[in-house]
Amino acid sequence: MGSVGAKEVPQLLNEAGRRIDGRGLEDLRALKIEAGILNRADGSAYVEWGDNKVMAAVYGPREVHPRHLQQNTKAIVQCRYNMAAFSVDERKRPGLDRRSQEISKVISEAFESVLFVEEYPRTSIDVYIEVLQANAGTRCAGIVAASVALADAGIPMVDLIPAVAVGKIAGKIALDLKKEEDNYGEADLPMALVPRSGRLVLLQMEGHMSRPELEQALDLGVKGCLKIYEVQKEALRARYAVRSTEAPEVAA
Ligand code: ADP
Repeated sequence: MGSVGAKEVPQLLNEAGRRIDGRGLEDLRALKIEAGILNRADGSAYVEWGDNKVMAAVYGPREVHPRHLQQNTKAIVQCRYNMAAFSVDERKRPGLDRRSQEISKVISEAFESVLFVEEYPRTSIDVYIEVLQANAGTRCAGIVAASVALADAGIPMVDLIPAVAVGKIAGKIALDLKKEEDNYGEADLPMALVPRSGRLVLLQMEGHMSRPELEQALDLGVKGCLKIYEVQKEALRARYAVRSTEAPEVAA
């Protein structure tokens, strides 16, 4: 937000109301989701969203590690969000930093609210999110990928969770910020929605907005989430279509 030193602030919105990549204020970046691409994991998904590339893998319900985290009445959801050292231009220290730990925690809580955890006491549902290439909105891309991976693993859940960040750039509310917009804009508001109930299961904000702007941002975010939800469902349908055309096993 704002620039320091010699770096020039890019013009985030031109006279025609177009953003730096040509999008309008209510447009999403291109989104592609593929389900079931890792053989080892119980469920997996790969997401390309603008310049973000994110992989999610799910294991479980399975034995809890470390053991003392086990809960007698429900499964625990352990999400690990990690940004690869090569995912950003700047030098990033490999491994889990404070930011990754915080994102892992809020994503775990979002999924715990839609998974039927009481059905699987003393187990763990492990969700790994690896950001291979980052360009803002990676926690949302991680949630979108992990939802599809959980469904691909056949783990019962209330609903898939679409997610998107809404922000404020050049005084206007805009959907799905890319990196320059996130860096030089006035606000960034990632959110995750349970479409079936209309409940928000993640909502964070950096920067500042007025209350009417916040309401406009929430409306725009929900609209964006519903579009993403369709792409998630389509990825699972495509996965199912592949499975059902595979040659049936011959009985012995
Ligand atoms: P999100 O990716 O969910 O928007 P942030 O708002 O924290 O999360 O980050 C915005 C963007 O800033 C990231 O997507 C990434 O492109 C970049 N970024 C985040 N952390 C780092 C880092 N440690 N080094 C370089 N770039 C980073």
